[in-house]
Amino acid sequence: MNRLVRKLFYLASSLLLTASMSAFTTAQQERPLTSITYRLSMTRPVSHLFEVAIEVELPKDSNANSIDFQMPKWAPGRYAVFDFAKNVQEFQALGGICPSEAKCKLSTLPVTRVDDQTWRVATTNTDSLTVRYKVFGNDLSGTFSQLDSRHANYNGHSIFMYVVNHKPDPVKLVIDPPAGWKIVNGWTEKPDQREWQFVNYDLMADTPTEIAADWTVDEFQADGKRYRVVVHSFGDEGGKRPALVRDIEKIVRAQTAMWGPPEFDTYTFLIHFAADDHSSDGMEHLTSTQIIEPGTLAESGVYISTLGTVAHEFFHVWNVKRLRPRELGPWDFTRPLNTRGLYIAEGFTNFYGHLMLRRAGIWDDAQFLRRQSETITNIENAPGSRLMSAENASLSAPFIDDAPHAQQTNLGNTSISYYPKGELVGMVLDLIIRGRTNGKASLDDAMRRMYDEFYLKSPNATYYLRGRGYIPEDFQRVASEVCGCDFTDFFTRYVRDVEVLPYDEAFGYMGLRVVRETAREPYNLGISVDWESLSPLEIATVRMNSPAEDAGLQEGDEILTLGRKNVTRTNWLVSLSRYKQGAQVPVTVKRDRRTIKTMLTVGAPDRFEYRIEERKDATPQQKALREAWMKGTR
Ligand SMILES: [Zn+2]
Ligand SMILES: [Zn+2]
Repeated sequence: MNRLVRKLFYLASSLLLTASMSAFTTAQQERPLTSITYRLSMTRPVSHLFEVAIEVELPKDSNANSIDFQMPKWAPGRYAVFDFAKNVQEFQALGGICPSEAKCKLSTLPVTRVDDQTWRVATTNTDSLTVRYKVFGNDLSGTFSQLDSRHANYNGHSIFMYVVNHKPDPVKLVIDPPAGWKIVNGWTEKPDQREWQFVNYDLMADTPTEIAADWTVDEFQADGKRYRVVVHSFGDEGGKRPALVRDIEKIVRAQTAMWGPPEFDTYTFLIHFAADDHSSDGMEHLTSTQIIEPGTLAESGVYISTLGTVAHEFFHVWNVKRLRPRELGPWDFTRPLNTRGLYIAEGFTNFYGHLMLRRAGIWDDAQFLRRQSETITNIENAPGSRLMSAENASLSAPFIDDAPHAQQTNLGNTSISYYPKGELVGMVLDLIIRGRTNGKASLDDAMRRMYDEFYLKSPNATYYLRGRGYIPEDFQRVASEVCGCDFTDFFTRYVRDVEVLPYDEAFGYMGLRVVRETAREPYNLGISVDWESLSPLEIATVRMNSPAEDAGLQEGDEILTLGRKNVTRTNWLVSLSRYKQGAQVPVTVKRDRRTIKTMLTVGAPDRFEYRIEERKDATPQQKALREAWMKGTR
């Protein structure tokens, strides 16, 4: 996935509850059911209620007394637990199958709600059954679903239950759209297609689908593969769609130049320009991606942001959707995911997403290096960088990737994201391989070799997909083999521990260096203010061991005066800039309906800007290595 900007507020987080809920994971795989058919309709878009029917035929000699239907707790690609069952309503079960209610009347079957995500249907005396439920969806995103008067856009895990112990069974999907609405997804083969056959539930749920009257589609071919760019614009496009499609083609060609032709025949970019909807997201799938940009295509910032998301999501075609950590497919949707590999799956994808914008010619060298400098600045200034390793960030994914938090957390001080951290690990590893092999090998080679070994050439380890998953130690081995050097020490210090990455060695090979300069603020208080909130000047976070913490300031304090002058959101930064290191500044804050006075001692600047720049003594050989890196050539 890429990122979800919109803030999500939830009443409760049920992580503790779900950790003990593995009763269904150990159940035996059962004999396949005779058939499973999903029927999706949306007769009243304004209600935001998707109507789902699941028809099940039991094997002739089945002696099962009941069948369980279960809503996933989370969806692959975003690892926070969202409990999709919370939006399910009006679940009912009927004996038999009858597509048209006018033609036959079915009796109801007893239903027991077993737990928060599971409905049990009694099947004594019936050889087929239909369950029906509605599910509310009004979020346009890469994880949730939306039905309204404009369109239906769904992500499978948030609306489709699976039959417990039968996720491997083949499933059929039939969609009945409102009149005049057209359906498109990554497996659409012909116009007006309404039915799909999937090898298993996981592949159906991996297929986000757009249903509306007014989306557009543009196509191009590359390496004999067909690419569709489906766009649903809520606002003005400013005539930029043809240029967008041409730039997407450049990105596709830059990536297939590295990986070789992809495995699919057709790939679909599902892109929404969501105007005033604040959604912002990108989500990877096997033959498609779901991209949502706030604003309109006519806006230049939106245009380049879309290309950045395209470059990231398309890299996932290989890295994560096919070449995947062992825990990423098939999935256990009864408990949060635990994998150590997200710094590779997402972090390396972040790195390559940026590099591919350079290789596609959308960015020049300076733009690419500026973007990578920003990531170094972000990571090296984060206090969590010295506490949380890349592997631990991966294991913390259910807490840090837009996870809902009902209680206050200290994650701002203690965590980092596996996206930027993994991005830097990947970049530094790439440069070291290139430098130590004098340009004969690179991370590109390691990625391709991993894809070959674990996806293309491995026997299938599970029902879900070709190949088998890897563990991070596999990646360490392959990177070492490609380089002809031993990366044990590198992975120990920079991946499993929290040491600062060896930037000097890595960038030195390219005739570059990383310069650290004091950030513009000459002060350090150790607090941040929530600029998005409309409330008064309120402290959002207090940094560990900072002057603010020494002065007894807390999150939620409303700052009234600084240096005996009234401060507001408008004059806060100006007021602050008058003070230098060592200054003693009286502060008053409001807390618990009282005014509290304290004295702040302004600390030494602790924020630094990092900049990747050319070394004056860069040799022609180093410049050649750099050019090969930027252009993806040997
Ligand atoms: Zn991603
Ligand atoms: Zn749409």
